Amino acid sequence: MAASNQLRRDFQDRDEMRQHLMEQFPDAAEVDSRLSPIPGGRGAAESRLNQFRALQYAGSRNFLDGEVSGLSPYTRYSVLTIAEVQEFVAGKFGLYRVYKFVQELAWRDYWQRLYFQLGEGIWQDREKNKTGIDASCYSAAMPDDIVHGQTGLACMDAFTNGLTANGYLHNHARMWFAAYVIHWRRVRWQAGARWFLQHLVDGDPASNNLSWQWVASTFSSKPYFFNRENLERYTNGKYCEQCPRRNACPFNAGYETLAAELFSPARSCGSKYEPSHTHE
Ligand SMILES: Cc1cc2nc3c(=O)[nH]c(=O)nc-3n(C[C@H](O)[C@H](O)[C@H](O)COP(=O)(O)OP(=O)(O)OC[C@H]3O[C@@H](n4cnc5c(N)ncnc54)[C@H](O)[C@@H]3O)c2cc1C
Repeated sequence: MAASNQLRRDFQDRDEMRQHLMEQFPDAAEVDSRLSPIPGGRGAAESRLNQFRALQYAGSRNFLDGEVSGLSPYTRYSVLTIAEVQEFVAGKFGLYRVYKFVQELAWRDYWQRLYFQLGEGIWQDREKNKTGIDASCYSAAMPDDIVHGQTGLACMDAFTNGLTANGYLHNHARMWFAAYVIHWRRVRWQAGARWFLQHLVDGDPASNNLSWQWVASTFSSKPYFFNRENLERYTNGKYCEQCPRRNACPFNAGYETLAAELFSPARSCGSKYEPSHTHE
């Protein structure tokens, strides 16, 4: 690459870097001009890798305050390769004691290989959905209240604000959020996927789109959805306690009830369904 095409690195501070990036990438700045607090570079990546307590990963990774590596922004841009991460962690702790983590690294590899085969096809439904709802019933755009963090649901609004401020969301939060967008609000997965890619520092078309399709059931055998009990458990109840809608929560029911409501073909096509369930 010619020297004149290289990105500048000699900034006094992050604000100067932010100003420079805003000038260089005005379209991105128009969407959101904040910088993620996640530090870039090889040094930061190595330090994160060294700090990662991989032995606690399998048992705690689904909890929002559990142990996860936080390495995706670095593996996304090959600041660290997947092979390098696996070798380091397996060498330090023993392969069989960190198998769950290695399995997750393998998901990234798998999605990349599919992307190589499918190309732009990752933007199309890979299969017919299994929700029983006609594809034409899902809206094409993200609702304003979701993208502005104004649904009144403390959990979803916190996920939106966390994503846009930090450029990162925990995996479980990504799953809950995607399920809310697709199944409760009946929005096409592509709209949610596109919005995620605008904000995620680790935003990667393969991992992102194919995960959205997995939630939607266009690339899995059934739709992924959740209920309040599940969200409360893995967040230690921190959102529900202060939620303005805690007594009229759309997630507060058993799985059978929710499935019957969410995936009922009788639910009219235009209705952006959000039944609320009283919490005792
Ligand atoms: C709707 C949705 C959208 C997503 N979008 C992206 C995306 O744009 N970019 C992205 O890298 N990941 C994406 N993921 C996968 C996953 O959420 C992130 O990789 C993970 O949360 C990153 O945090 P971490 O590095 O702490 O992960 P850890 O749990 O520590 O995992 C270690 C590494 O394994 C890989 N990995 C973990 N889980 C997955 C997974 N489910 N699929 C693919 N790779 C995985 C990542 O490279 C990650 O850095 C998405 C998941 C969902 C449900």
